[in-house]
Amino acid sequence: MYESIINRLSFFDGIDILAPLIERDFRGRIALVSSFGAESAVLLHMAAQIDRSIPVIFLDTGKLFWETISYRSKLVDHLGLTDIRTIKPKAAELAQADPQGMLHASNPDLCCHIRKREPLERALSGFAAWISGRKRFHGGARANIPTLEVANGRLKIEPLARFTGKDIENYIEHHDLPRHPFIGEGYRSIGCLPCTVKGGTSDNPRAGRWAGLSKEECGIHWSANGKPLRVSRH
Ligand code: SF4
Repeated sequence: MYESIINRLSFFDGIDILAPLIERDFRGRIALVSSFGAESAVLLHMAAQIDRSIPVIFLDTGKLFWETISYRSKLVDHLGLTDIRTIKPKAAELAQADPQGMLHASNPDLCCHIRKREPLERALSGFAAWISGRKRFHGGARANIPTLEVANGRLKIEPLARFTGKDIENYIEHHDLPRHPFIGEGYRSIGCLPCTVKGGTSDNPRAGRWAGLSKEECGIHWSANGKPLRVSRH
């Protein structure tokens, strides 16, 4: 089933790939995962044009900037999205593995597993497909991502994979979308507070994430063999 969909749609981008999947192929069985970060408005706007009631999964790691939480509310209101599912890590797991809230400093992979990957897997249970907003121009492990792939038994959709930085900027401007308050402050990619610094370039917008570490991905994106992507910069 997934193979025929991949063959039929993998040459499309943006709303052209989303519309048939949301309206027909996976109606009621598809979710969008958003960080409400620097470029999230584009994908959320496309989805809202098709179906404002699509489930939108937001991972609240407990380490986000309050500006991101505030931006989420503003953008959701602006787009009229009606099913935002804020997912949090399990309190018991945090109490056991990260009682001081400093695990990000000693073991960021485990911190991401507890605060992102495990909650996302729980949230995606019951869905046959999910939509993510990665782009190839972000480089690293993202340089060759496909628009459609099967990962962990679900169809994973990357409608913006072939978008350039200029495409993103043009889309935001054309649709006059609200911007994350950190845009213009020197941030190009915005994640958790302890693991995000200002920086990045148009060619490498994620340089401000886990700066100084070899870590580039949080582990919520799996490779074809089912293992989390984790590619060294070096
Ligand atoms: S990005 Fe940093 S704080 Fe957030 S879950 Fe990963 S290691 Fe923890």
